[in-house]
Amino acid sequence: MSDIEESISERQHMRFIGVTKDATTAGPGKRLELFLKGCIRGIVNPCEGCFNPSTWEFGGDRKRMHINEVVEMIDRDAWNRQVTFCGGEPLLQTRNLIEVCRELKRRDPRIHIVVYTAYLLENLLSQGVFYRLRGGDEPAVQETLLSYSAHWNPELTHFQIATADQIRELMGTIDILVDGDYQSKHRIPTEKYMNEGMFIGSSNQRVIDTQETLRWAPQFVFDYADVWMEKHLIKKHCKCCGHPINNRQFTYCDSRCRKAFHKRQKDIAVFR
Ligand code: SF4
Repeated sequence: MSDIEESISERQHMRFIGVTKDATTAGPGKRLELFLKGCIRGIVNPCEGCFNPSTWEFGGDRKRMHINEVVEMIDRDAWNRQVTFCGGEPLLQTRNLIEVCRELKRRDPRIHIVVYTAYLLENLLSQGVFYRLRGGDEPAVQETLLSYSAHWNPELTHFQIATADQIRELMGTIDILVDGDYQSKHRIPTEKYMNEGMFIGSSNQRVIDTQETLRWAPQFVFDYADVWMEKHLIKKHCKCCGHPINNRQFTYCDSRCRKAFHKRQKDIAVFR
């Protein structure tokens, strides 16, 4: 492999801390939750009460996968087509995240994708994500951010990790963006979110409908996480994907959800 091919291949890899199946705290329903590695906020000024400090570091390769492998894994393991990317800070890997989400939606437009970010959408849409290296940063920070960044220049100490245009592009390939830093003093009480799959987080965070926001731009279409929860708690939810269903007599959104749920029950029974 030539140096150029090697660097392209390197830039097509994503880094994770881990993956959880059937998570019920990261959006509607049971979800395949992928924890992306690396958080600038964590190493500079962590959110108070951060529930995931193990994701901050940039060094090491606990789970490093090519974007094609990421797509295959999600396609195989997201049995009810519900996926969440959280972190760490997923938007540090925006470039590859766009590729993965675009391919997942191409294969199945029904797949529902949630992305968490500590950044605010208004800032993302005006300046993207950037970082200026600090004197004490580990070499792994520079190395990893270079491989994530929108523009490849090894001389850079100021990284444009994602551009505003890339953020818009990502929004076009997902369903919900949960923005804002986690604030433990505004944490949503446990008894409210532990119900068939809801949002863990704090009430300052916004649950943004990305498709509607792109449609009504520059207006954002969102609910604060606690309001979103209240609205959903009074509704009946599909047993498979966890999304609200209009007719309370039904248990599933449609026959595809019913089939997927029954298949899952059989698969689980086989492994017991
Ligand atoms: S809550 Fe998320 S954004 Fe905040 S420090 Fe922890 S991993 Fe980083």
